[in-house]
Amino acid sequence: MLELVAAHGAEQVALTADPDTGLRAIVAIHSTVLGPSLGGTRFRPYTTEEEALTDVLRLARGMTYKHAACGNALGGGKAVIIGDPAVLRTDDLIRTYARFVDRLGGRYLTAEDVGTTQADMDLIRTVTPHATGASERLGGSGDPSPATAWGLLSALHAVASRLWDDESLAGRHVAISGVGKVGHALARYLADAGARLTVADVHAERATSIASEVGAEVVDASDLHRVGCDIYSPCALGAVLNETTIPELRCVAICGCANNQLATPEDGARLAARGVLYAPDYVVNAGGVINIAHELGDGEYDHARAWDQVAEIGETLTKILALADEQALRSDEAADRYAEARLAATQ
Ligand code: NAD
Repeated sequence: MLELVAAHGAEQVALTADPDTGLRAIVAIHSTVLGPSLGGTRFRPYTTEEEALTDVLRLARGMTYKHAACGNALGGGKAVIIGDPAVLRTDDLIRTYARFVDRLGGRYLTAEDVGTTQADMDLIRTVTPHATGASERLGGSGDPSPATAWGLLSALHAVASRLWDDESLAGRHVAISGVGKVGHALARYLADAGARLTVADVHAERATSIASEVGAEVVDASDLHRVGCDIYSPCALGAVLNETTIPELRCVAICGCANNQLATPEDGARLAARGVLYAPDYVVNAGGVINIAHELGDGEYDHARAWDQVAEIGETLTKILALADEQALRSDEAADRYAEARLAATQ
């Protein structure tokens, strides 16, 4: 276990197990160099405890880079609750988990993630102040997905500027894979911007209904990455850019909100070799955490101010692409250098 912690460069890992509620959870704090660590609580089954620990360590490290690149005064952390939320989740378990988070004294601030909900954050907030993304009526900033879509839109404008010297998306063809909370909001923004849209979702009826709302074409989820388009926007799962899919791509650029889109670091090189412009995932999907950071500032959460900062994601992406040009790096490498430079300047 300690070897894994060392290999991921984490500052601290905390474990808890509560026989009464069945809670088994791990919090990984990767870095507090820029501020208290913040990242969501993932609630899902894992085959082994090692698998859970590896996942939480990898995700916590990813949060350090995401906060650093977007300018948040926050560090990287993440948590997992091991088990199927449909079977295990009770209010008692969530309260017990909240006490665990509370005992970390603010070094780790939690948020919603896969398997946890805004209602869970509302409940955690009744036990500890160290929870974010609670409902706006409780002084939180609410569901981060709309802000994530807003930031992604600004990144898509930056990609258009870079490719065509014109930030307008009117008439550009964007193919969105996954029209859930973020993908749906993005489809609406893009329809308003006059883009041509193709959408897909494993829930075919969701894709069909959203397509009729925004005037998009629908393709099968397994075919979307092969659609000839200007920009492919992965908004479902990670690891979608891999040695099988990359040779089949027919897009000019990739810009989507899914986390960890590159299956391996070699896939960044595969994309570059094909001449596809890749907008690094953790740079373009930071809208949600920028919004949350505003909830933590002094005074009340100010929606307009938060969203203005979210819209700066496009400028950050433009800087990172310029850095890639200057230093002959791939865009994913340039994003890492950009984040690491901010961390180094603060240490
Ligand atoms: P969501 O669960 O609301 O939506 C995901 C959608 O993808 C669902 O409609 C699902 O049916 C669909 N889907 C699943 N597998 C698919 C596949 N193979 N092909 C096509 N569609 C598929 O999730 P979300 O909140 O919209 O987040 C989407 C992605 O963005 C996730 O990877 C998430 O980790 C990441 N992300 C989300 C936020 C946020 O604020 N919600 C922030 C940063 C990153």
